[in-house]
Amino acid sequence: MTPFPRRDYADLRRYNPGRAPAAVDLSDNTNLWGPHPEALARLQAATPDDLRCYPELYADTLRDAVSKRFDVDPDCVTTGAGSDDLLDSAFRAAYGAGQTVTYPAPTFSMVGDLARMNGMVPRPVPWQEAHDDPSTLLVDDPAVIFLCRPNNPTGAQLSEDWVERLIGLVEDSVGGAARGPLIVLDEAYADFAEETLIEWAPRLPRFLVTRTCSKAYGLAGLRCGFGVANAGVVLEVDKSRGPYKVARLAIELAASAVRDRDGWVTQMVDECLKNRWRLAEALDERDLDQLPSSANFILLASPSGDAAQDAAALRDAAVQVRPFVDIPDLGDALRVTVGPWPLMEQFLEALDTRLAALQEIESS
Ligand code: PMP
Repeated sequence: MTPFPRRDYADLRRYNPGRAPAAVDLSDNTNLWGPHPEALARLQAATPDDLRCYPELYADTLRDAVSKRFDVDPDCVTTGAGSDDLLDSAFRAAYGAGQTVTYPAPTFSMVGDLARMNGMVPRPVPWQEAHDDPSTLLVDDPAVIFLCRPNNPTGAQLSEDWVERLIGLVEDSVGGAARGPLIVLDEAYADFAEETLIEWAPRLPRFLVTRTCSKAYGLAGLRCGFGVANAGVVLEVDKSRGPYKVARLAIELAASAVRDRDGWVTQMVDECLKNRWRLAEALDERDLDQLPSSANFILLASPSGDAAQDAAALRDAAVQVRPFVDIPDLGDALRVTVGPWPLMEQFLEALDTRLAALQEIESS
């Protein structure tokens, strides 16, 4: 039988988060303070060979920088063209025909697609259910268990104890066998939580922590991410990933940002967290529900109850945020990236205009 097009791709669409250019774009959690200055300096020192030559096969310069920064062996570091790519490679490496990818939901919107892209079945478990009983993520013998810490889009931080419990349950279920589910812990926003489980990864049998250069390092355009796991897991992910995946300049620029010699990331995170508190307070003053966030964004209840309409109204005021539907404890919601305060003021101004318009509709 002709295999093309794949039947299991029938439900897949091109990714479309519904973005359009906006003067103030607070919709994708990229770094609104700009790119890491040391990465920018390296870009400005680019040579023709940075374009003419192939990159290192497996991005050794970046692996070395990550190894030094996080005090892990370089053999425990893998890389990808963005952490999306790394997640894709990891899912492909863990592939089991017809098996599931389980995850506490809601979470990173690409995960279901990444499961389908790799021939697996996404199985979201409601967040509270998974939180109360991590064994719910083990039902049906999943190939991959995906966790996002802090979680996108809610900003929630799974506790270390909870992750440890889950790991224990997985190990019990495997009973010492050589194969078992791969736990993928996505730490795209971990710099903002100032907490990481990277140090656990090298000593666990099937536990991969992924990081992105797109958020705290301000390098989303570069498409670069990295991950830490034991050397055996890294080898399997690298096999699935293939050589030359990360561009020469991406390796060099990302390595400069990871080294962070001048502490730029720490200073930026400090300011981001201050602004997040300030924004949270401003939302409280406006009586808008929000979820406590450990990341560089806040998810707040949609003022009208219809997030798409609120987002469209804010867009009319040149401010773009990301709408979500049916978030537990909030209902329809808006995710707002935290950035320099003048941008937050522009958001609050647009929000106030929306709130006033809604008030007017209500009183008419
Ligand atoms: N994980 C999470 C939780 C994210 O929010 C994102 C980007 N929105 C990614 C991974 C992908 O990041 P990258 O740009 O490295 O592919």
